[in-house]
Amino acid sequence: MSIQSHIEWTDATWNPVRGCTKISPGCKHCYAETFAERFRGVKGHPYEQGFDLRLVPSKLQEPLRWKAPKMIFVNSMSDLYHEGVPDAYIESVVDVMIEANWHTYQVLTKRSGRLRQLLNGRLRFAGDQGHIWWGVSVENKQHGLSRIDDLRASPARVRFLSIEPLLEDLGTIDLSGIDWVIVGGESGYAARPMQKHWVTSIQRQCAQNRIPFFFKQWGGRQKSKTGRLLDGRTYDEMPTQQPTTPLSFSEPPEAVTQNRMSD
Ligand code: SF4
Repeated sequence: MSIQSHIEWTDATWNPVRGCTKISPGCKHCYAETFAERFRGVKGHPYEQGFDLRLVPSKLQEPLRWKAPKMIFVNSMSDLYHEGVPDAYIESVVDVMIEANWHTYQVLTKRSGRLRQLLNGRLRFAGDQGHIWWGVSVENKQHGLSRIDDLRASPARVRFLSIEPLLEDLGTIDLSGIDWVIVGGESGYAARPMQKHWVTSIQRQCAQNRIPFFFKQWGGRQKSKTGRLLDGRTYDEMPTQQPTTPLSFSEPPEAVTQNRMSD
């Protein structure tokens, strides 16, 4: 969508696909749908077709034009693994990520079965890339925990969880093979509330397993007021950067992103 992002855990967004369909309770107040539908019917606007799924091949080359290294959230306005996106198109997106390897890419999906299938098959070559981080969304036990199992079964150098909007206590989570955890509450007019002990339980499990933990927000009707302090501090931990092997860069090595693990 744009080179700038207001999302706390990334620098930029890139949307070679637009639009999506809802798949689980975490989608109920999808911010992408709300944004896109505001522009349905507006002639010439990128979201003239609202939130209808469509490929945007004209956007494919965008990261190659961004010369400064960035943390890029792939498809903030869609789900790359949506059933309406052909395998060949997903592969084209991955090819660009591999070519523009001075950036770090965060690929997040709720369609974890397809992620698992493709990373074990046609996209097997992409799992070795340390600058491509693969993640799944988790909002509750029923829909979210099996996505973690799918992610763990996907060959990848960096795996992450976006636990947002957190809708219930997830209990004990199997975090083996997971490299990063983001947690956040829902925001907006009808936001579903998140209880503190749901968050601290996950934070504690991350600390026990030495997994970087990023607390994005409490959320609520006015997220700027509820903020993102947890027990008086912010949690902005990021994964240790994994070098891609073999090391081959389309840009000078100094362009590779730095290690941003904190604590
Ligand atoms: S999968 Fe993501 S983009 Fe698609 S409807 Fe759900 S929340 Fe929105």
